[in-house]
Amino acid sequence: MVVAIDGPASSGKSTTAREVAKVLGFTHIDTGAMYRALTLAALRRNVCLEDDDELTRLAREVRIELAQENGVPWVKLDGEDVSQAIRTPEVDRHVSRVSEVAGVREEIVRQQRVLAGSRDVVMEGRDIGTVVFPNAEVKVFLVADPVTRARRRKAELEQRGIARPLEEIFSEIVKRDEYDSSRAVSPLRRAEGAEDLDTSELSIQQQVDEVVARVRRYLEKVHKT
Ligand code: C5P
Repeated sequence: MVVAIDGPASSGKSTTAREVAKVLGFTHIDTGAMYRALTLAALRRNVCLEDDDELTRLAREVRIELAQENGVPWVKLDGEDVSQAIRTPEVDRHVSRVSEVAGVREEIVRQQRVLAGSRDVVMEGRDIGTVVFPNAEVKVFLVADPVTRARRRKAELEQRGIARPLEEIFSEIVKRDEYDSSRAVSPLRRAEGAEDLDTSELSIQQQVDEVVARVRRYLEKVHKT
């Protein structure tokens, strides 16, 4: 089965999806990491970010792998571990542009469906419940107020030794959400059948418990019928 978790930047998707997958014994797939890895490849190769055809070609050419080791997720780009390198402010700034390209999305979505295969997965992103798996059994739309999200992002960056002013992070998050929500192809929006979960006032444990509870309710309902 597929548990789809969508929502804006820093709404808690990755942490929630990772922990929910652990509790349920499902595979966690962070689709944002794939768009980030592609963006990193484009920046490193000096691909013109305005050139849709070049970006589409690159998406078909690079090898992006996602996996976990001892519960810690990693991302590889052509065999190199880029788990840290894809989370820099530079990648943050350009990833929305790269991921709005129709050809890029077509290729990455194809890879995401292959990755999921017929396994039980918790897949997180922006278009999982709308495009990648519109028939996902459980759909969650994570939301949180932008200031909370900016604070979370700041703390996450600080943990990795990157200090940045809150106001700057806040305006970048708002900008990225606007970009992701207004693009022509697969914009960020609540999927049909998705239920909101506002994480502004929730601890990570509470977020995880709530999503797990929704999955269990679904499974109970299916087993009864
Ligand atoms: O989830 P994360 O913030 O790491 O995603 C980075 C970016 O990748 C998003 O801002 C969005 O532009 C893009 N993305 C997307 N579709 C997804 C996941 C991420 O367009 N399913």
